[in-house]
Amino acid sequence: MSRFFSEKYSSLTPYTPGEQPQDMKYVKLNTNESPFPTSQKAVDAAAEAAKRLQLYSDPEARALTAKFCEVFGFERDEVIFTNGSDEVLNFAFMAFCDETHGAVFPNISYGFYPVFAELNRVPYTELPLRHDFTIDVDAYCGVGKTIFIANPNAPTGIALKRAEIEKILRSNPNNVVVIDEAYVDFGAESCLPLVRTYDNLLVAQTFSKSRSMAGARLGFGVGNPALIRDLNTIKYSTNPYNVNAMTMAAGIGVLSDEAYTQRNCQAIQENRAFTVDALRSMGFAVTDSVANFIFIRHIMVDGETIYRKLKERGVLVRHFTKPAICDYNRVTIGTREQMQILLDTLRDILKEGV
Ligand code: PMP
Repeated sequence: MSRFFSEKYSSLTPYTPGEQPQDMKYVKLNTNESPFPTSQKAVDAAAEAAKRLQLYSDPEARALTAKFCEVFGFERDEVIFTNGSDEVLNFAFMAFCDETHGAVFPNISYGFYPVFAELNRVPYTELPLRHDFTIDVDAYCGVGKTIFIANPNAPTGIALKRAEIEKILRSNPNNVVVIDEAYVDFGAESCLPLVRTYDNLLVAQTFSKSRSMAGARLGFGVGNPALIRDLNTIKYSTNPYNVNAMTMAAGIGVLSDEAYTQRNCQAIQENRAFTVDALRSMGFAVTDSVANFIFIRHIMVDGETIYRKLKERGVLVRHFTKPAICDYNRVTIGTREQMQILLDTLRDILKEGV
């Protein structure tokens, strides 16, 4: 820390992104990226946009918004595009929380929530998951704070039903409920159909996972126009050009290729079912994930050992050191070939005896 660093950030512990190692070629199952290439339509559109980078990107994202509204059936004042969904989540912390209006989220969830809270000096409460890692819906009812829930949750992959989220929305009419649907396209129920019923609902989604665009950084929020106006106030007070021109073009391209996205999501779900069955037969406890990752623990071997031995053999998964989940590893669902390598490698590790 330099002697110039603002005291208000001096105790901040930043988010630790998953490893992006350069030392060797891994079967990379640690950051929940898509194993499938970006849609060719997105790549071509981005290349075309790259010819005009002398111009600023459109701060209103009009072309992308129009395409989005056509595909998703919303009006333009119901959506905001951001630099990844991380940005819309941060905007929500800035817009709907402050020193006197705190946030709540599960104690085991996306690691960025407490960081955004601390960055914005928002007091927060982490509500414990049940022993089976499910969210205790009643604990959120009438809680009187801004609520952040990842659905499906990360790193467990377990989802709430839309009706359960409605219960939370109805019991917190004076608080914003942010539903982070980064992984919703792999089998969970989206809350987008509730946006017009509940003026306190903000749904955050991303193009990073189901649309194979993690490197382009494109996310969005959908909600009541008044909520979106608030988020735009934050956006125009920080970075009006938050989404670059190539990414916007790529976003339009991928939204013109929904069949490709659907096929990829289908493949991930099939590969997940195949992997979960095989892992259970090998003595792994696996949560009921509806995301593009699974959360696994072996009955005999500790999580850190599995993580390390996999890494030595060129397979990278995500291990968390938090005591409640340190026995587990989060494994991204990749192609069938990648899953086969994971399973073969795990069999070798278990056979070797640890
Ligand atoms: N929410 C959750 C639960 C996530 O796991 C991630 C990915 N790290 C994000 C949001 C943010 O993704 P992105 O910024 O790439 O849209």
